[in-house]
Amino acid sequence: MKKGIVWFRNNLRISDNECLVRALDECDEVLCVYILESRIWNTSSEPVRMGSIRAKFIFESLKELEREINGLGGTIEFLQGGAVDEIPRLMESFGAELCYAQKEDAWEETEQERVLANQINLILTGGKGIWEEADLPFALEGLPAVFSSFRRKVEKNMQIRSLFRSPDRIACSWKAKTELPTLGSLGFEESPKDERAVLDFLGGAKEAKKWMHQWIWERDCLKDYKETRNGLVGADYSSKLSPWLSTGCISAVEVYWEIKKYEEERVANDSTYWLFFELLWREFFRFVARRYGAQIFKRNGMKETDEKKSLGDPKTFQRWKEGRTPNAFVNANMIELATTGWMSNRGRQNVASYLVHDLGQDWLAGAKHFEEHLIDYDPCSNYGNWMYLGGVGNDPRPNRAFNLEKQAEYYDPDHSFRKLWLG
Ligand SMILES: Cc1cc2nc3c(=O)[nH]c(=O)nc-3n(C[C@H](O)[C@H](O)[C@H](O)COP(=O)(O)OP(=O)(O)OC[C@H]3O[C@@H](n4cnc5c(N)ncnc54)[C@H](O)[C@@H]3O)c2cc1C
Repeated sequence: MKKGIVWFRNNLRISDNECLVRALDECDEVLCVYILESRIWNTSSEPVRMGSIRAKFIFESLKELEREINGLGGTIEFLQGGAVDEIPRLMESFGAELCYAQKEDAWEETEQERVLANQINLILTGGKGIWEEADLPFALEGLPAVFSSFRRKVEKNMQIRSLFRSPDRIACSWKAKTELPTLGSLGFEESPKDERAVLDFLGGAKEAKKWMHQWIWERDCLKDYKETRNGLVGADYSSKLSPWLSTGCISAVEVYWEIKKYEEERVANDSTYWLFFELLWREFFRFVARRYGAQIFKRNGMKETDEKKSLGDPKTFQRWKEGRTPNAFVNANMIELATTGWMSNRGRQNVASYLVHDLGQDWLAGAKHFEEHLIDYDPCSNYGNWMYLGGVGNDPRPNRAFNLEKQAEYYDPDHSFRKLWLG
């Protein structure tokens, strides 16, 4: 009798889940586990890394994952602490020889993988993005420094895998000994709903598929995406798939095949290509994170320099966080973030540029604030984009500063976005 455990990380789904499929193919019994890492879920440490809006979204996703696993005959344990201690302990109690997990890209997660691999039989699979490191047409050390060159290289002779089948049974005789704690018991306060939010984001793989279907097929938004994607108000201007992609409630490959289906059945145009193009940014920052490791979380980012950048002053930074700067466009975006966990891509670019270039503050502090508050927080995309705007990343033109007045005039000409959030 061969037993394995599946350690769910940012792959909170049953469908298109390589690591689950592989464990089920290779083991007679499979026990599932999710670990609430105390370094992330600790609400009393500073800086806070997990805000209550994202916590709620992840918990909804976990509850649905549990329902699905139980429905297939399986069991999931919810452990608190650190994977490096908890996984070997659980394997011993269950009598598992192997642990299967999705490979992550960011430093803390890859460090966990390195440490665990020295203690247990850890089988890491793909699933986080469209490609794995081994699929790239260049060695990671040769990762192009700028996005356009990365895109050209990966798009040449590009192959995208087909979807993994969904399992119909998870054999497991183990009875669960833990349950998902309540958010309140972990110190999270409930955030009231705001009717101005772009969308009522609900966690879970079912919601992910439901929204993707609505946005692409029913609301028919994909065909116009390239023209609308810089919008600021409402559900339709961009796909809003990021919270589900970041938690792995849906895979990037599932989104890719849905785009292809739409192109075959309805229309293929610049907009349908552009959604894929944006997913390539996500891929790019995943590989930047793999290539540069801990550096992307440090002030000098990818730049090897000893230059001491100004850290700014706490009062100015606080005003930016609270949406109390002299700039109304920035304030509206920052209030939207604090209230709903969401900010459009256009908003993110502008508030980041403003913090760094107009207010002269530290980009890293801005990135940490986003880490706490964004509902779609992803280490690679967040720190990758922030480094870019902080002038220590992949921008071929570092110190690119947005003209905030022009941006607001162009993207919010009738002030509807500013009025919505500032009254
Ligand atoms: C300062 C800053 C911080 C950011 N932090 C995050 C983050 O923590 N998590 C996150 O998912 N995205 C982050 N982004 C990227 C981008 O703003 C969001 O992915 C996008 O706004 C999400 O909305 P959407 O799903 O409607 O995107 P769409 O426009 O519909 O794009 C589809 C998908 O493509 C990917 N994507 C699009 N733009 C980017 C980009 N610039 N970089 C990487 N991937 C992209 C996302 O997965 C997105 O869901 C950040 C951007 C900036 C400028």
